[in-house]
Amino acid sequence: MLYQQIIGQKEALGRLQRMVQEKRVPHALLFSGREGSGNLPAAIAFAQHLYCIRPQDGLPCGTCASCNKVAKLIHPDLHLVFPIAKSKDVKTSNDVVKEFREAFLQQPYLNLNDWFNELNAENKQPLIPVEEAADILRKLSYTSYEGSYKTMIIWQPEKMNVEAANKLLKILEEPPDETIFILVSNHPDQLLATIISRVQTIPFYQLSETEIAEGLIGKYNVTPETAKQTAILAEGDFREALGILTQHEESVSFLNHFQQFMRLALKFDATKALSWIDENAATGREKQKQFLQYGLAVFRDALMYNFGDRDLVRLNGQERQFLEKFAPFINQKNYERLIEEFNSNYYYIERNANPKILFMDLILKTNELINLK
Ligand SMILES: [Zn+2]
Repeated sequence: MLYQQIIGQKEALGRLQRMVQEKRVPHALLFSGREGSGNLPAAIAFAQHLYCIRPQDGLPCGTCASCNKVAKLIHPDLHLVFPIAKSKDVKTSNDVVKEFREAFLQQPYLNLNDWFNELNAENKQPLIPVEEAADILRKLSYTSYEGSYKTMIIWQPEKMNVEAANKLLKILEEPPDETIFILVSNHPDQLLATIISRVQTIPFYQLSETEIAEGLIGKYNVTPETAKQTAILAEGDFREALGILTQHEESVSFLNHFQQFMRLALKFDATKALSWIDENAATGREKQKQFLQYGLAVFRDALMYNFGDRDLVRLNGQERQFLEKFAPFINQKNYERLIEEFNSNYYYIERNANPKILFMDLILKTNELINLK
């Protein structure tokens, strides 16, 4: 994670870079910023700067052994603490550090939800338990391997319970030598005031729409128009922007799939139907269920468009253009039966029925219903 990979935050990054260049890194820092501000990737970039063996013009080279180890979160002097879903087998961050590395490398702007999805623990409470404090002391008691100091990044310290927070406070009050603490918090207001008073705060500001749009264009290869629309909806949260983008891409792909389905339903063609069915079977059950839900939403919108309030139609952009052409095929005679067919297909897909048979049947029934005048 190089500084250049971080969206915006020039001021915070500039301050951090000067600290390293002037060799005036405080023993405890608080990277404070809301979700999607980039404070976690910035902490990793900063660690890279601290450990780089061959800095270039005062900045990390990104290619030396140390830079590589930090980038993969496997540098032996870089320790990570983060919320976990506590269980019999998982007592501290260490027990799931491999999963955390994977989640971070996949998406450095990850939020707590992403992390708990990775753990398959969506319904559990994220927590940094008191056992973690003992583990922090244990890690810091080792001599450093490669650098002159150890770095302890604590992501979401606000998830510490009272006991853990008090232990952390004790550690910060008598900091071990050659150790840098970086607290990376989305909610510093939930931290003990006594902890805040022990750290130097680096604020990460809400990103501007322009910064988010530029980040999307530069790194995710999207059109300026999509980038701009996404940035407006993301409200300063880059993680949110990426989520919106994925949803948008998915809905475009469902739209294409649905359009092909409807063309077959309007004018049945056995060869084309079979190839659509093969393609559809390969997408897997979850996508097939989502496709059916997508179809249900289009029918509802088509009915709304024909008989209700057009302002309540949710589809826009490319999907809206399709809807305007498609809506005339939906009427009071076929609407309810189409909904019924799509719903019952959903039911059978969930119960592992053969998707090829089900969808062939669905094309034929839709063909009959959509041609009802
Ligand atoms: Zn380097």
